[in-house]
Amino acid sequence: MAIIAAEKELLVYENMGVRFDRAASKLGLDKGFQHVLRTPTKEITIYIPVVMDNGAIEVFVGYRVQHSLVRGPGKGGIRYSPDVTLDEIRALASWMTWKCAVVNIPFGGAKGGVICDPEKLSRRELEAITRRYTAELLADLGPERDVPAPDLGTDEQVMAWVMDTYSMHVRQATTAVVTGKPIELGGSRGRREATGRGCLIACDRALRKLGRKRTQQRVVIQGFGNVGSVTAKLMHEAGYKIVGVSDVHGGLYNPKGIDVPKLLEHVQQAQQVPGLAGCDAVGADEVLYLECDILVPAAVENVITSRNADRIKAKIIVEAANGPTTALADEILEEKKIFVVPDILANAGGVTVSYFEWVQDRMGYFWTEAMVNERLEQMMVASFDDVCSYAERHDVSLRIAAYMLAIDRVAFALKLRGLYA
Ligand code: GLU
Repeated sequence: MAIIAAEKELLVYENMGVRFDRAASKLGLDKGFQHVLRTPTKEITIYIPVVMDNGAIEVFVGYRVQHSLVRGPGKGGIRYSPDVTLDEIRALASWMTWKCAVVNIPFGGAKGGVICDPEKLSRRELEAITRRYTAELLADLGPERDVPAPDLGTDEQVMAWVMDTYSMHVRQATTAVVTGKPIELGGSRGRREATGRGCLIACDRALRKLGRKRTQQRVVIQGFGNVGSVTAKLMHEAGYKIVGVSDVHGGLYNPKGIDVPKLLEHVQQAQQVPGLAGCDAVGADEVLYLECDILVPAAVENVITSRNADRIKAKIIVEAANGPTTALADEILEEKKIFVVPDILANAGGVTVSYFEWVQDRMGYFWTEAMVNERLEQMMVASFDDVCSYAERHDVSLRIAAYMLAIDRVAFALKLRGLYA
């Protein structure tokens, strides 16, 4: 029997649930606790009226889901995208719970989103959406309650507006209410690069495990936003050969290796990946099937599915995005013996440095970039090794091992705290 019905394959929360159920049963977790841990704690829907630049009033829909607050305040980004759904935010919130537990930082999991297209909004409209969204969530956010961060479609400026709105209401500058802020407002050095740097560390660890060398690895990166572009830059500097990249507009391929500094300059100017001289143009999706050793999906959910997983030629997949692979695709990749470093481990560098930012804000003492990077590396390496030993001990994939490690940690904390009724 298929682990998930074909028509449900693209429902992200179902995909989270399938992995959760497998890991929790493997752990022998009591059914009642399984039910509690699988279910979110709170889901908030917000209607955001905004006077648009043309004078018309529009109402945007936003969400914040707090999946678990067992190990600490909620933690997780805010996403601005026309594709946001409650199902997606619910899945992303629970992935934050597992991600924070995998890297063993004292947070629960949460996620927010607003259905809007930031590319079509003016700066003033974006600010209005952000401030109203934050004001509506005043009772639920806070350094000890729930701490947002950037995600798809949001950036340091959006975080600065969240911080300011919250601070104005509580009548004191509260930098620790949000992470991924500008450095001048209590942001951490190294935060912007942290997810990409974490992916590089995950790649390095995978190579070490498989006895491969950086300089012999051909890498394809699908998605060229903050995470994809930083991952490309850092991997290139570390000696990997980047042979393919893509964004929503299209892809590039050069089997001899793309000149990444030139690519970054080109993207800065053209605001898109296609068009770099010296590379072949390929379709945005076609990059997934290029001849390569490492594939880094760094965009959105559901790019590797049961429909295309068999076409992937990479030997290693490092999931920089959240949820790029469906549960049905997991089985195909396992059969093909592809080494998959799962999202809740591979992209945990971002939230790890968010944790450092929160710590620095609360103590009012800021670290050097070298300190941030060194501690990030220590935590990523320790987590990678923890997940690998779980996988070996229980004879499961790294994905199921990561879920097992995370669920075990959250369940342990929940049992110690007990259920309050
Ligand atoms: N949005 C990022 C993620 O999915 C970062 C979350 C955070 O730093 O809180 O991991």
